[in-house]
Amino acid sequence: MKVAIIGAGISGLACAFEFERNGIIPTIFEKKSNPGDTFDLNICMFNTTGKSYRDPLVYLKKQYNIELNPLSHLNKVTLNTPDKQTILVDNFGYIFKRGIEEYSLGSQLASKIKCPITSDTYIHNTKDLSNNFDYIVVATGNNNIAKSLNIWNYELSTRIRIATILGKFETGSLILWFDKRFAKDCYGYMIAHSPKEAILTLIVNNISYSEMEYYFKEFLLFTKLNYKINGITELDFYTGFINTMQIGNTYFIGNSGGLVEDFLGYGVMNSIESGVLAARSIINNKNYNIAIQPLINDVNHFVEFRNKLSDSKNDVYSTEAFISRLPGLKSSYHYCESQETKVPEVQIKQ
Ligand SMILES: Cc1cc2nc3c(=O)[nH]c(=O)nc-3n(C[C@H](O)[C@H](O)[C@H](O)COP(=O)(O)OP(=O)(O)OC[C@H]3O[C@@H](n4cnc5c(N)ncnc54)[C@H](O)[C@@H]3O)c2cc1C
Repeated sequence: MKVAIIGAGISGLACAFEFERNGIIPTIFEKKSNPGDTFDLNICMFNTTGKSYRDPLVYLKKQYNIELNPLSHLNKVTLNTPDKQTILVDNFGYIFKRGIEEYSLGSQLASKIKCPITSDTYIHNTKDLSNNFDYIVVATGNNNIAKSLNIWNYELSTRIRIATILGKFETGSLILWFDKRFAKDCYGYMIAHSPKEAILTLIVNNISYSEMEYYFKEFLLFTKLNYKINGITELDFYTGFINTMQIGNTYFIGNSGGLVEDFLGYGVMNSIESGVLAARSIINNKNYNIAIQPLINDVNHFVEFRNKLSDSKNDVYSTEAFISRLPGLKSSYHYCESQETKVPEVQIKQ
């Protein structure tokens, strides 16, 4: 069986790992010089209750034999909304580093596979490969190939600025800012790499490249953040869905299949899972569209909420309904209730 995987990111590497576990050596094409992560940042993997697991790392090990080491636990979330600050302390999940370091998420996944990666190779469309491969897995992290096949539907178009900042920071902590004045329907957040370095990110929907400077200045002004900025990266990021996750012998996984949830833009778990599920569907000749449906349902779950947020004013962030819809915080509340342990410590500073 000859399999091509386009993209050596999170989903492509997880997919390759599953093929190799089953004795099939895929060919991976990667546009960059190295596999793994595209950006230098920190990301969160929340514990969840909506799914069949609570701890994502225990789940990945048990279900897919994928063992990952996080940068740290995520045990504090500070939620800033226009009128208040809420601090939650609990076991919320994990923080991972993304970047070139050996311990980054992408490098950890890359170290698990043996197949050679054809790097510095940009695949324009699946036709380039269809004569030479039995199966093609699209793992590009973007919607280009789905768009060229007319199967991509937009949900949200965002511009993201990631600033590396220097100062004094608390590790294991995520700080979120929701405020339409500087983030429109999206948000800003800060996570530390170390006690001395953190990333500060602002995500704003439906703005042009040149407008980001204005929104970022407003962000710093309203939040009164005044750190030394050591570097800035910017990118466009889209969420959406595709009409089918498989066309003939072509399979879509990760972001290229629209598997990013539409609220916080989280997609790492779905990327890993969809990579493994696509490999299993190909190996066992099973219907991938059916195998992937639970992940699509999870993503769809947020679409309606995202639409409500977009139609509301800033006071929507003050509602209990809003806090309870935040993926990790919601699961934390529910978990605490169901375990009859104390609810997370909540301090409200008006
Ligand atoms: C700023 C930011 C913060 C995020 N934070 C979180 C978070 O906290 N938690 C979370 O769960 N998710 C988060 N996400 C989402 C998460 O990063 C993605 O869901 C995940 O990386 C998607 O994996 P992927 O394999 O689909 O794509 P990627 O990991 O992006 O990999 C795609 C790979 O394909 C390669 N490639 C692209 N096009 C081609 C081509 N034509 N030919 C060859 N190679 C190609 C790229 O170079 C890359 O290596 C965040 C995303 C961003 C942008």
